[in-house]
Amino acid sequence: MLQQTQVKTVIPYFKKFTKKYRTLESLSRINENQILKMWEGLGYYRRARNLLASIKLLVKKHKSKLPKTFKEVKALPGVGNYTANALLGFIYNEPRLAVDGNVKRVFSRYLNKKDEKINFERVISINKRNLFITNRNSDFIEALMEFGALICKPKDPKCSQCCLNKSCKYLKSSNKAETKKRKKIKIMNYNIFCYVSKKKKIALTKENEIKFLKNFNLPLIKEMKNNSISKDWKFLKNYRNSISNLSLNINLYYKFSNKIPKSYNWHSLNNNKEFIPSFTKRILNQISTLF
Ligand code: SF4
Repeated sequence: MLQQTQVKTVIPYFKKFTKKYRTLESLSRINENQILKMWEGLGYYRRARNLLASIKLLVKKHKSKLPKTFKEVKALPGVGNYTANALLGFIYNEPRLAVDGNVKRVFSRYLNKKDEKINFERVISINKRNLFITNRNSDFIEALMEFGALICKPKDPKCSQCCLNKSCKYLKSSNKAETKKRKKIKIMNYNIFCYVSKKKKIALTKENEIKFLKNFNLPLIKEMKNNSISKDWKFLKNYRNSISNLSLNINLYYKFSNKIPKSYNWHSLNNNKEFIPSFTKRILNQISTLF
């Protein structure tokens, strides 16, 4: 849940999940639509799908326990090196580090090397005698992340309070290696066409051509080109919607109609049992202003 998402956003979702599903077995019995519905609004829905697939595997193959080898943990859907190291370190106290953005920055600054030039696995393995000196490794993993977030911050690191300031190469160097800049935001332009019924319903389909919105309930969405738009479609508004590093510039159109194309289904504008992603909810809210 915390991947690319702030703690304060995650807390109510985490509480809702752990209150409703007390065991892995109970969570493993739900279907994809149910988990997506609970995840609604949190974004990055692939995480919910992977979580459910992983839990089903844990229950079926691993007696509802996290396996103990790196290979088995990494074989779970959606689990890469970072998550596998974090899980084994947090749960089994193994001497591992979860190398997130904060930890990368600490190493990068301490060594005064750009993070893309550091082979983290190698650096950790060579320095394991110096790094893993505690028998509370799960706390150490968390502490290093917090150290990056609170002391060796992206901007204005608190070097005077830092316990590493005597040996930190970044602090001493006149030629400081800067950490990688954030990914550039890419702007994309789309027209969205909504079939709307007078009964406050909108037609949505899971068949759309947009890769990053595949299998989600959406109105008709097309890349903005110079093609003219039929007068049947009325312009409602222009707005921006951000998804990850994409900034979508959207022109929203609508028409009242009782006839809809084959793959579409009617959905209520304000009350859906089925999962509706935030991207679509925003469209529903705009369309609601017509009533
Ligand atoms: S001395 Fe400053 S730059 Fe170096 S590790 Fe500490 S906080 Fe980061």
